[in-house]
Amino acid sequence: MTPGDIDDALTRHPPGERRHIVSPANNTIKAIRALDLKKNRAATHLFVVEGARAALEALSQATAPLAIAYLDEAAHEPHVMKLATATQASGGLILEVNREVLGKLSRRDNSQTVVSVYRQTWHSLLDFGSGDTDRLLALETVRDPGNLGTILRTADGFDVRDILLIGEATDPYAGEAVRASMGSIFAVKLYRASLDDFLEWRREFPGLVVGTHLSGSQDIRTLAWRAPSLIVMGNEQKGLSAEMSAACDRLVRIPMSGRADSFNLAVATAITLYESRR
Ligand code: SAM
Repeated sequence: MTPGDIDDALTRHPPGERRHIVSPANNTIKAIRALDLKKNRAATHLFVVEGARAALEALSQATAPLAIAYLDEAAHEPHVMKLATATQASGGLILEVNREVLGKLSRRDNSQTVVSVYRQTWHSLLDFGSGDTDRLLALETVRDPGNLGTILRTADGFDVRDILLIGEATDPYAGEAVRASMGSIFAVKLYRASLDDFLEWRREFPGLVVGTHLSGSQDIRTLAWRAPSLIVMGNEQKGLSAEMSAACDRLVRIPMSGRADSFNLAVATAITLYESRR
């Protein structure tokens, strides 16, 4: 299926159309499955969310699905009705499917009753840090989708909403990242930039740029945070690049006393966001 076919199958239909689908070979079902591939997500700007909880979270942020598939037997459950009604009201596509079809759409072991499709939202680097936010987060070449999803959830939990992905990052709209974000993918604002573009942006940023580094010269607990502060986290394997380290105002380390030589990226992000709260 080409990206054009996928887009057509999911977005070209009479507004609020309802269909009952019992064959996994159905074209619309194949289109949803095709969004498992990064190249299809990149070309269509669509992504898939499993489960009612994340879809309800999206709805609470005024985002209705472009398309929703749910188990026909669950059609009268209140949360399913709420999601279907919102999808219909916004002109989306409603697919009542049988268990076999839903099993094909779901990547989780205990398959969900709802799978929905949304359009990705990316913000311009020009707007990064332009609001009245006191903390921003940047991740340099984050590679693991589970880490990225966990970081989105954690940042949302600390009310840090502007998140910049620098360099060759994993896709935040990949299924694993979306699952790990537990609905926070809808609560945060995502930006992306090359390292060069970031370094140019950084020249104009009036706030404090705090890099986290295993051999940072300052203990994170002693840092005088300012508003706004930009926290920069490094890659899982390589840490912060030399260029990025040089661009930071401060390099802080989280003290470690055991035998492990570093914290997992998502854990280090959580500790840093916690420390930066005052
Ligand atoms: N081998 C890598 C290195 O040398 O930096 C380890 C990277 S660590 C798994 C991933 C990221 O988490 C780091 O780049 C840093 O941003 C953060 N991090 C992990 N442990 C840290 C610590 N003790 N102090 C400061 N940052 C830490």
